[in-house]
Amino acid sequence: MTPTATARSICSIQANDFAAQWRETRKDALAAVQRVGNSGRLILGEEVSAFERKLADWWGVSHAVGVANGTDALEIALRCAEVGPGARVLTTPLSAFATTLAILRVGAKPVWCDVEGSGGLDLDRAAAALESDGSIAAVVAVHLYGHPLDPRRLARLCEQHGVALIEDCAQAAGAEREGAPTGTVGLAAATSFYPTKNLGALGDGGALLTMDAEVAERARRLRNYGEGERHVYRERGLNSRLDELHAAILRSAMLPRLDGWLARRRQIARRYTEALTGCSQLRPMAATGGRSAHHLYPVEAASGETHAVVDALESAGVRTGRHYPFLCCDQAAVRGGDAWVCGEMFPTARRVAEREISLPINPYLDDEQVERVIGACLQAAARRESATRARTSVNGRAACECGD
Ligand SMILES: *Cc1c(COP(=O)(O)O)cnc(C)c1O
Repeated sequence: MTPTATARSICSIQANDFAAQWRETRKDALAAVQRVGNSGRLILGEEVSAFERKLADWWGVSHAVGVANGTDALEIALRCAEVGPGARVLTTPLSAFATTLAILRVGAKPVWCDVEGSGGLDLDRAAAALESDGSIAAVVAVHLYGHPLDPRRLARLCEQHGVALIEDCAQAAGAEREGAPTGTVGLAAATSFYPTKNLGALGDGGALLTMDAEVAERARRLRNYGEGERHVYRERGLNSRLDELHAAILRSAMLPRLDGWLARRRQIARRYTEALTGCSQLRPMAATGGRSAHHLYPVEAASGETHAVVDALESAGVRTGRHYPFLCCDQAAVRGGDAWVCGEMFPTARRVAEREISLPINPYLDDEQVERVIGACLQAAARRESATRARTSVNGRAACECGD
């Protein structure tokens, strides 16, 4: 590596900073490891149940069931909703592939429905799809980017059509709308402790959240081979347990800090929004309502500008992400017979897939780094604007009518 490249990568602003997180959480995490080691219990012991209680309290649900990852949490939630082979499940094509994968893994067929401009499922189109296809058995609604979908509309829609609602809250820890957290209006919700998530473990983990005691009990069986009473298996489950170690670290080192981390995410998001509002080259994709958990900070680039903007930000030392450049329905892992596509080919989801850029947002960015990201965005926007102007030789307006 050249010295310049090294210097740049050292000071470049990253999406996540796990080293900084370790510096903050190390003492508590190591104490948690000691506690587990001394307890002599490594699987499904006191740590998992203590974390589950604390998470349920924090989230505002009645039950949390720790599992191995968010994908399994979705799969188990679908199993609890009796969604099995051949069933059709309405969902979004714009999500982590895990959302579609969980549906495929229970043998069901995803029916995709377009999103609205900020990336969330378009509930008008979802209503039309449910209206026209009476065979849909469930909806998997994703609170993408941490932006909460409208819980009342979602619940009403599913109730009206008699379909089960599963909420994918992998990105939504801390999101609220209508005074309630996400994950409380469906039969069950799934969340993930993948390290990049708002509440991340030191490895993989996840949880199923529910208000329903029977669903929680069934999920506890399904995560442990399907075992009910000891040595008795009435249905085929998974091996999908949250480890005692992860549970202990999550409870003692991570969860107590989550409110502080969320507050910092909100501050950063507020500052980005303030600085970029009115910027036609990098339009903030804000939540349609409620309070986002700001797992990501998505902006929409102007038509055809995404790659140029990503490159410009990269050379200014700002690492960006894409969520998501390819739609779930277009993945080779989804074979034709697996899936149904409803309506036209998702023009909005495609636009977002082409244009979305995720700016760095994590609790360890300091104010100076946040301003550097903003400066790089405004500069990239101004450059792209003048490049566009030169190309089209029109007398365009300034790229950003914003301050700075
Ligand atoms: C991360 C994520 C998942 C999957 O979680 P894992 O813990 O990685 O299995 C599912 N859905 C969404 C929206 C995600 O962001």
